Amino acid sequence: MIHIHPLKIVASFCREIYYAVIHFFLPHFCLTCETTDIKENEIICNTCWSKLPIAPSNDKIMDELKNKLAGGCHFSGAFSLWQFCPETQTIIHYLKYRTFGNLAERIGKAMAKKLTENQLPAQDMLIMPIPLHKTRIRERGYNQSSLLCKAIASETEIPFEDSVLKRVRYTASQTKLTAKERQKNVANAFAVSHREKILNKTIILVDDVITTGVTMNGCAGELLKNGAKKVYVLSAVKV
Ligand SMILES: [Zn+2]
Repeated sequence: MIHIHPLKIVASFCREIYYAVIHFFLPHFCLTCETTDIKENEIICNTCWSKLPIAPSNDKIMDELKNKLAGGCHFSGAFSLWQFCPETQTIIHYLKYRTFGNLAERIGKAMAKKLTENQLPAQDMLIMPIPLHKTRIRERGYNQSSLLCKAIASETEIPFEDSVLKRVRYTASQTKLTAKERQKNVANAFAVSHREKILNKTIILVDDVITTGVTMNGCAGELLKNGAKKVYVLSAVKV
């Protein structure tokens, strides 16, 4: 039984209130250039959005991941929208802690475009989020990667599946761990149920941010072990 510290629940509640108050009282403006010429449910204006730094190519990201994952990389390809910078960090922060109007749909739409540009075979594909442990969902209220998946699925018509891959072990926050420690941390953290649903399927694994790729690689390994044909990863931000 996992125990959530009561202070964590209070902190999460306070954060929600904080965002709600800020957005109720402050005039609506772009968080980057401060223009007020922005739609009510957006946090970054179209001009700033179009200037967000584009992520490296699939080949470059794959080279980096293969290096980091020391020969055990399970991906057939890795696509990302943007590079990590203060602006993209803000976007992901808002995506994580509160659903801001159409933020998930806006990012998902751009991610869908990225996927279509790379012309993956459209047949026998599934799109799925990196699962959160149910304890983390309870803390946060939702899985931000699921929101992105739903948006991508509705743009591309690739079926969305979030009941097959489960996070069965609660893993501590990974931000302060080294790559090696992360790899140890995610070992056996994921499990597949209903393997017939993924048999011979090409799977697009979606997360908001890709850093070392260790978590996604843990998922990919589990999917391949259970009969998936190929696994590609797609993220909004590449660190
Ligand atoms: Zn702006």
